[in-house]
Amino acid sequence: MDAPLAPLTTLRLGGPARRLVTAETDAEVVAAIRAADRAGEPLLVIGGGSNLVISDAGFPGTVLRIATTGFTLDGTLLELAAGEVWSDAVARTVDAGLAGIEFLAGIPGSAGATPVQNVGAYGQEVAETITEVVAFDRLLDETVTLAGADCAFSYRHSRFKADPDRYVVLRVRFRLADEGGLSSPVKYAEVARSLGVEAEQRVKLAEAHAEVLRLRAGKGMVLDPADHDTWSAGSFFTNPVLTDAQFADFTATLGELKAPGYPAGEGRTKTSAAWLIDNAGFRKGHGAGPATLSTKHTLALTNRGSATTEDLLALAREVRDGVRAAFGVDLVNEPVMVGVSL
Ligand SMILES: Cc1cc2nc3c(=O)[nH]c(=O)nc-3n(C[C@H](O)[C@H](O)[C@H](O)COP(=O)(O)OP(=O)(O)OC[C@H]3O[C@@H](n4cnc5c(N)ncnc54)[C@H](O)[C@@H]3O)c2cc1C
Repeated sequence: MDAPLAPLTTLRLGGPARRLVTAETDAEVVAAIRAADRAGEPLLVIGGGSNLVISDAGFPGTVLRIATTGFTLDGTLLELAAGEVWSDAVARTVDAGLAGIEFLAGIPGSAGATPVQNVGAYGQEVAETITEVVAFDRLLDETVTLAGADCAFSYRHSRFKADPDRYVVLRVRFRLADEGGLSSPVKYAEVARSLGVEAEQRVKLAEAHAEVLRLRAGKGMVLDPADHDTWSAGSFFTNPVLTDAQFADFTATLGELKAPGYPAGEGRTKTSAAWLIDNAGFRKGHGAGPATLSTKHTLALTNRGSATTEDLLALAREVRDGVRAAFGVDLVNEPVMVGVSL
C-alpha cells in the first residue's frame, strides 16, 4: 500500500513509497534489506529525512525507516544505534562532561546518517571522533565493521555517500575526550566572537553547546515545526572547493568585492556558497512562490507550506544558474536527491 513520505522529511516534500518498513532493531533492519534485495526491489533508507529531496512521484520500492535505539557510554567511548536522534545524543554527551561533538548540537536527523555526509558545523565534523562504523554490506550480505580511517571522510562526503546502494549504517562509535568539563578548542570565528573568547580557546561545554544552539536558531537551523524557515534540508548547496588557480580566476573578476576563501587541503580553497548566492543578488526570503530562500539564511531553501518538490527544484536551479552567470562557479546540492536531479 502506498505510504506518504512527505511527513517523514523536514522539507515535507515528496510523493508516496510503494512500501514503508520501520525497523526498531538491527535484526529488523537487516531482514528488511534482505527482503528488498531478494525481491529485486529498490530500497531507500531514511533516518530523520532532514537531508532528502524526494520526487513528487514518490519512491517505487521499499523505504526503510531506521528507528533503532541505543546510547552506550563506556568512559570516553560512545556507541550510538543508527536510529538515535543525533541532537539528543549530543546533549547527553555534553551532560556527561565529554567533548568532541558539542559544536554539532542541534543538527537534525539520526546518528546513523552522520557518517554518510560527514556531518559538520562550526569547525567540527564527525570524522574527527568516529572510530568505527558498523554497517550492513549489501554486496557481501553481511555486517561489517569499518575503521574511521577507512570511511574516506572528506568535506560532506564519505564512502557511504559515494556508494549509496552498498552500506546501511547500523551503529556508530566515537572517541570523545574528557577535558575536565571544557569544550574542544573553539575553531569557528563566529562562535569565538559570540562567546567573547579567542580562537582555539576552550570554554565550558554547556556554554559551547548553548551558544551553538542559539546561533543556529537565529539562522532557522534548528527544527521548529511552527517556523517555515526550518522546513528545509539545511544548507542546500555545499561550499565550493576550488583549485587555487580557479579561486584566483574567480576573485580576479570581483573588483571591489572580496570573497571568503579558506584553505581546503593541498592547492585547494573553499569559498562560501552563502556569499556567492547573496552577491549574485538572491537575498534572504527570495522567491515569490511556495518555495523561497529562508528569511534567516540564504543557503536554506524552504517550503512555505504548499510547495511541491518541483517548486523547490525550480528555485534551486534559478539560484544555481544565477551564481554561475555572476561568478562562473557551479554550486552543487548537499541534500540527497531521490528520483530527481538539479
Ligand atoms: C534545519 C537543518 C539544519 C541542518 N544543519 C546541518 C549542519 O549544520 N551540518 C550538516 O552536516 N548537515 C546539516 N543538515 C543536514 C542533515 O541534518 C544531516 O545531513 C543529517 O545527518 C541527516 O540525517 P537524517 O537521519 O535526517 O538523514 P536522511 O535525510 O534520512 O537521509 C540522508 C541520506 O543518508 C542516508 N541514510 C540515512 N540513514 C542511513 C543509515 N543508517 N545508513 C545508510 N544511509 C543512511 C539516506 O539514504 C540518505 O541518502 C541540516 C538539515 C536541516 C533540516
